[in-house]
Amino acid sequence: MPDDLRGTNPRGLYFVTDLANAIQEGGTVDAAELQDLLARHGGPPFVLTDDDARQLSEAAGQLIQVLQLHDEDRAAEAINALLARYPAEPRLTRLPGRPWSLHARAPEDADLTHWLLSTAALALGLWLSERGGCAWGRCAAPDCDRFFIDTGRRTPQRYCSPRCATRVRVAAHRTQRSSAGPAVPAGPVTSAAPAELPGSAAAASPGPDPVGVASPEDRA
Ligand SMILES: [Zn+2]
Repeated sequence: MPDDLRGTNPRGLYFVTDLANAIQEGGTVDAAELQDLLARHGGPPFVLTDDDARQLSEAAGQLIQVLQLHDEDRAAEAINALLARYPAEPRLTRLPGRPWSLHARAPEDADLTHWLLSTAALALGLWLSERGGCAWGRCAAPDCDRFFIDTGRRTPQRYCSPRCATRVRVAAHRTQRSSAGPAVPAGPVTSAAPAELPGSAAAASPGPDPVGVASPEDRA
């Protein structure tokens, strides 16, 4: 069975969390940042103005509201509300060298807000249904509030990246060591990525995997 039928391939959602994090950090994104973000995620090669970027940043606020939800019923309700307002046209697409997969297509006359919210809402909805819950979250590390997509199988993911997980571990170890006194030898803390973060490497470099936020011309 292909990976994306087993709930391990969050199509397009790394783009959504990267966009949410960029907006959260900078308040908004400009056209160049947004085009760069799309290119990194294999999205459509839009030529955007700063006005377009402002429109998309504003629209992304509605996705941030969904990413802040932990209750699956409320999340499903919010995603359904987005799909009702910004209907997606899902269709099976076969990209070269890949199996058939379901992609959203914004209607021909859709504006950028409709394109972003319809495709992202469908991707979030598929992910919620495949994973059986809100498989996303916000980093639990101090001074980090970044959103992430949880692709873990056993324990829920707590940190946005192996870097944050390591930072927390090292800090906890230092606290433990200083409270135990200087004679205690160093414990087995390593800088290796923790086992509970299988999705993080992919999140850091998602590669050319086609995102579920394709433009009509790109996926036609
Ligand atoms: Zn973090």
